[in-house]
Amino acid sequence: MKNWIEKDLQYIWHPYTQMKDCEKTPPILIERAKGIKLYDDKGNFYYDTISSWWCNIHGHNRSEINKAIKKQLSSMGHIMFAGFTHKGAILLAERVLSIVPGNLAKVFFSDDGSTAVETALKMSFQYWQNTGKRHRTKFVSLDHGYHGDTIGAMSVGGVGLFNKVFEKLFFKSFKVPSPYCYRCPMGKEKDSCSLECIVPLETLLKSRGREIAAIILEPLVMAAGGMIVYPKEYLARAAAICANYGIHLILDEVATGFGRTGKMFACDHIKIKPDFLCLSKGITAGHLPLGLTITTDNIYKAFYADYHKMKTFYSGHTYTANPIACSCALASLDIFEKERTLDKISEITPVLHDGLERFRSLPLVGDVRYIGMIGAIELVKNKKTKEGFGLRKRIGLEIYKKGLKRSLILRPLGGIIYLFLPLCTNKKEIEYISRNTYDIIKSI
Ligand SMILES: *Cc1c(COP(=O)(O)O)cnc(C)c1O
Repeated sequence: MKNWIEKDLQYIWHPYTQMKDCEKTPPILIERAKGIKLYDDKGNFYYDTISSWWCNIHGHNRSEINKAIKKQLSSMGHIMFAGFTHKGAILLAERVLSIVPGNLAKVFFSDDGSTAVETALKMSFQYWQNTGKRHRTKFVSLDHGYHGDTIGAMSVGGVGLFNKVFEKLFFKSFKVPSPYCYRCPMGKEKDSCSLECIVPLETLLKSRGREIAAIILEPLVMAAGGMIVYPKEYLARAAAICANYGIHLILDEVATGFGRTGKMFACDHIKIKPDFLCLSKGITAGHLPLGLTITTDNIYKAFYADYHKMKTFYSGHTYTANPIACSCALASLDIFEKERTLDKISEITPVLHDGLERFRSLPLVGDVRYIGMIGAIELVKNKKTKEGFGLRKRIGLEIYKKGLKRSLILRPLGGIIYLFLPLCTNKKEIEYISRNTYDIIKSI
């Protein structure tokens, strides 16, 4: 008889995985998870240092969330969301609107991050069609940005290595250089920088502004692009430019939402009024898929008309506003309040940040960056030239394997090793994680 892993490899194709690698590094069979630890079938455990792909918030197997799920199941699992509604969705919409910034006033539900982004793109596009500005059909996004894996979301993405093969399928959009300070697109250093990287965006809007519907970006952290933490001033300036040219600002907080950066939303670090806010991942504390696209009354009103005028937003997804997912999201927001999660992480993040500062002196470490409970270490072959490791060297894989031996999940983004910690990670756990990550990188 075949064991579980043999069967897995016989029947399953895993995401983001070169399945040939599984010959030597097969997937690990996890049987349960508690707090920030995942336990395998052999009695080993692993710190969930990347929050199970950036979505776990309060730890695994939280009794409050389990209870909410069970309670919801006692009335219903799922119902359709056109022509019908349910209390969980209503409560969640009300609650989320009370914590998001600016003029956001309407919640559109879907089922994951990519669908939340696609919805924002389609709404922005149709807004301009509905309001007679039919020339506004293009989007602007950042190099190194990431907004999901569906074709529309990829079209406004910039992560070349992963999605280059699909390039011919993308709709045309404008890309501008990103505020990637370590590899400054304008060739500046920190002390000589006066935010020159915003200029290409300004120039683009000056010349092509009339064609543009919206700019989409991840506020303060370009996550999949390499956990690139960038200056608040860039976000503020980009928002001001949007307002200036009357185009929409779509903030993709799928990764940064729900406390990751130390505030509830990354855009809370500055005063800003997005036209769209996309949420997913952490919204259910990492238990069930759910996506939200939140927008303003102004946008909403452009679709509100007599039926025959054909201004309806004809878009949606089957599992829209799944009641069980909504119940998780509400339970998670309760925990945020009850445990004062954001206050707690403000005490703990200096431990993470100080721990990461130590990495700077290591010979392979080119850059260290962090914000809130997110930290990243960019590895380079040559510190002076900032030359990275090529595709053959597999330095990330080597570190990943060494990490597992020390109970860490150091799943790399190319040559970038990062931590994306659940918000409930305590001081001792952070110290263990950062010390052992340091030792591993030092040993390479
Ligand atoms: C993960 C991610 C997405 C896509 O979310 P999925 O749930 O994987 O579709 C979109 N935007 C950002 C910023 C993300 O990190």
